[in-house]
Amino acid sequence: MTTLGHHIGGARVPGTSDHHGPVYNPATGEITKHVCFGTRNEVDRAVAVAKEASVDWARTTPIRRARVMFRFLELLEKHKGDLAAVITEEHGKVLSDANGEVMRGIEVVEYATGIPHVMAGHFTENVGTGVDSWAVRQPLGVCVGITPFNFPAMVPMWMFPVAIACGNSFILKPSEKVPSASLMLADLLYEAGLPEGVFNVINGDRPTVERLLEHPDVQAVSFVGSTPVAKAIQLGAITHNKRVQALGGAKNHAVIMPDADLNTAVNGLMGAAYGSAGERCMAVSVAVAVGEIAGPLVERIAEDARRLKVRPGTDPEAEMGPLVTAEHYQKVTSYIETGLSEGAELVVDGRGVQDESYKGGYFLGPCLFDNVTPDMRIYKEEIFGPVLSVVRTDSPEYALELVNDHEFGNGAAIFTRDGEAGRQFVSHVQAGMVGVNVPIPVPVAYHSFGGWKASLFGDHHMHGPEGVRFYTRLKTVTSRWPHDESQSASYAMPVQS
Ligand code: NAD
Repeated sequence: MTTLGHHIGGARVPGTSDHHGPVYNPATGEITKHVCFGTRNEVDRAVAVAKEASVDWARTTPIRRARVMFRFLELLEKHKGDLAAVITEEHGKVLSDANGEVMRGIEVVEYATGIPHVMAGHFTENVGTGVDSWAVRQPLGVCVGITPFNFPAMVPMWMFPVAIACGNSFILKPSEKVPSASLMLADLLYEAGLPEGVFNVINGDRPTVERLLEHPDVQAVSFVGSTPVAKAIQLGAITHNKRVQALGGAKNHAVIMPDADLNTAVNGLMGAAYGSAGERCMAVSVAVAVGEIAGPLVERIAEDARRLKVRPGTDPEAEMGPLVTAEHYQKVTSYIETGLSEGAELVVDGRGVQDESYKGGYFLGPCLFDNVTPDMRIYKEEIFGPVLSVVRTDSPEYALELVNDHEFGNGAAIFTRDGEAGRQFVSHVQAGMVGVNVPIPVPVAYHSFGGWKASLFGDHHMHGPEGVRFYTRLKTVTSRWPHDESQSASYAMPVQS
């Protein structure tokens, strides 16, 4: 059986540790390969290689760096099917969804090809007589990315195309559950002509991450994953004096107003709650139904949920695949028990959905809870599975209060036909990404992605202009070229003249 290693200095290298993790096919429950966890020595080697490579790469002109991104883009187009296939194999999501994930990652590479333009500084002539001032953004050096299981290609691509295009080198520590896509991306980057050592992949778990966090030559850390780990990463990075952006968990609400178009709301919620088996940080896990729309909404979602095709991700008819691991399946199903014991009404129960031919896989069908209240654990905590909770209220103000009082603030959406209601929601909602009749408002690559409250620790969102700011630092220059050498010393604070 294959054991995956790392990608250091421009080539795949075997791991040296005896510490391995299993990689599963979630549709069958079989172990398909192992992944080797990076040791302190391997991390140190990757950082040394990345540091050395970062010097010349930072001096490479932005247009040359962009040309590597253009070639990478072509190769991604050519190999996007292979990437999607490996995502489905290791994560379980259906192939069409895996293809969509790869495309959303490709969009960030498209953005990165414009780096000469987006990194341009600004210049002011004559800030004083004969004195000019300009500001440029320069790369940081070695940047690190630590990524979750649920988007094996897209989340790494939120980070490294922008970091590299800005002139940094990068070390990616992907989720140990889905390691293959990152290694494939590394192969493609080098085929595109990236100089050795600018991009590295080090597989591993907590000790690998801890060494990356404490290493003095790492300048910046980007993290995406669960909130407890995001908090720990932020603290660790700050303690070791690094720039950090750490994106955490979510509990995204969609408010369905009484005047909403029922079809639009139902179809939007079905995809947002059950797409990728709910294992999306932008999944809608709470629908707040305002007024009389609640009854028909629950009825229609229940009908559609019962019809949803839960199959292996490779089945062309599959609409939803399995959960990622047996452990995660246990976690999600334990929340079904919790919801029942808390008094929520389980309208659709997805347990026991798999038929004999899919035995061994981690299949859980769509689950729908009605009459959920904010004191319940199924409302408060992130479940990260195909479980939608419906909260009923007659008050639009209370609906907004619910969203704003929740611990998480990644995404939020409103379904309405009333422009003023939509506008008020957008203005007052406490969330980083907001949708109006759009259930999963994931920003495109040239905007930036990030949540508020316990969904993001740090100051910068990812990719787009915020990504460029995160991966560069500002240098402001003031200069003059005096021909008159008679100027005497001045002891007063210089002012503009
Ligand atoms: P996770 O936090 O368990 O793991 C994320 C990464 O951190 C992995 O690479 C893992 O190896 C590493 N890690 C795990 N525990 C660690 C520890 N104690 N110390 C250091 N590193 C550690 O998350 P996951 O289960 O892979 O992903 C699901 C979570 O990610 C969900 O909470 C989801 O909401 C979140 N997520 C958030 C976003 C976002 O944009 N906000 C996007 C995708 C996923």
